[in-house]
Amino acid sequence: MRALLLSQYKKLEITDLPVPVPSSDELLVKVAACGICGSDVHGYDGSSGRRIPPIVMGHEAAGVVERVGTGVENFKVGDRVTFDSTIYCGECAFCRRGEVNLCDNRQVLGVSCGDYRRAGAFAEFVVLPARIAYHLPANLSFAAAALLEAVSVALHAISLVPIAPNNTALVVGAGTIGLLLQQGLKAAGCSRVFVTDLDETRLTLSKKLGATETLRSGPELVENVLQLTGGLGADIVLEAVGNTPAIRTSVDCVRKGGHIVLVGNITPEVTIHLQKVVSRQIRLQGSCASAGEYPRAIELMSKGAINVKPLITAVAPLRDGPAWFERLYAHEPNLMKVVLEPGAGS
Ligand SMILES: [Zn+2]
Ligand SMILES: [Zn+2]
Repeated sequence: MRALLLSQYKKLEITDLPVPVPSSDELLVKVAACGICGSDVHGYDGSSGRRIPPIVMGHEAAGVVERVGTGVENFKVGDRVTFDSTIYCGECAFCRRGEVNLCDNRQVLGVSCGDYRRAGAFAEFVVLPARIAYHLPANLSFAAAALLEAVSVALHAISLVPIAPNNTALVVGAGTIGLLLQQGLKAAGCSRVFVTDLDETRLTLSKKLGATETLRSGPELVENVLQLTGGLGADIVLEAVGNTPAIRTSVDCVRKGGHIVLVGNITPEVTIHLQKVVSRQIRLQGSCASAGEYPRAIELMSKGAINVKPLITAVAPLRDGPAWFERLYAHEPNLMKVVLEPGAGS
């Protein structure tokens, strides 16, 4: 089969690999679409240590069932499916508590990190346990379905805070996750959702997608948020950047006793103003991946409550993968989600 292989750091090539064979509890899926994740781009040069070559990356995917393991009951050949990126064991203490995102034996498709190597979906075929697969409704395209993982991540973060209808929320960072968070907050019943970013283009998109107010980050931001919230600050802040300035903004913009959910994860350490957090009794809540949010994500996308179309910069054949990785790696402006189609062209 055709596959996009990271043969060494910063070197992707189209190669021929054997088609994997599903074991009894697995599916072989013919991949129709697979999104390039920020974590793939971070892994590409070796900086994250989680894409040790040789590895076929790709964990945000959808396709059609090609073969079914002998023990699989709820899927058949020809089914349109998507799947969770996390392969959980189902047996550890965390899995038994339903916290499958915290599984002690967690593996991610398309990751090799020393502990394990698991081939991903930048290939014509991928094999995965049937327990992480979901049926895809007819009205969801494969390219849109490649965004389901990101939608689930956003919904999981939102699930970690109580939301009342009259709440105000601030989303810090209008990247892919930020734009999904703002839509998920609306769908969860949060009436006023503000979004802040440095980038005007992203804020314009955020406004189009229904943000109550978009705010350019800068020295006036805190004052603007206070003005919009009667001097209190936002009830909830969802932080989708993950660096010191964005955390500082979050702490300064949340109301006393409010919640900050930390989703962004680009720097390993940040500086936090401890006294503000303690004396204003702010809750800091980390959020990792998702745990059971796929069905809800599929439902919200299927009924149009979450629109991912404007977040897709390009849909391209697999052979264009190396060039797209280079562009994403170079931080070319105005790029959001790029989706590769391993089944298209030759
Ligand atoms: Zn991802
Ligand atoms: Zn587990």
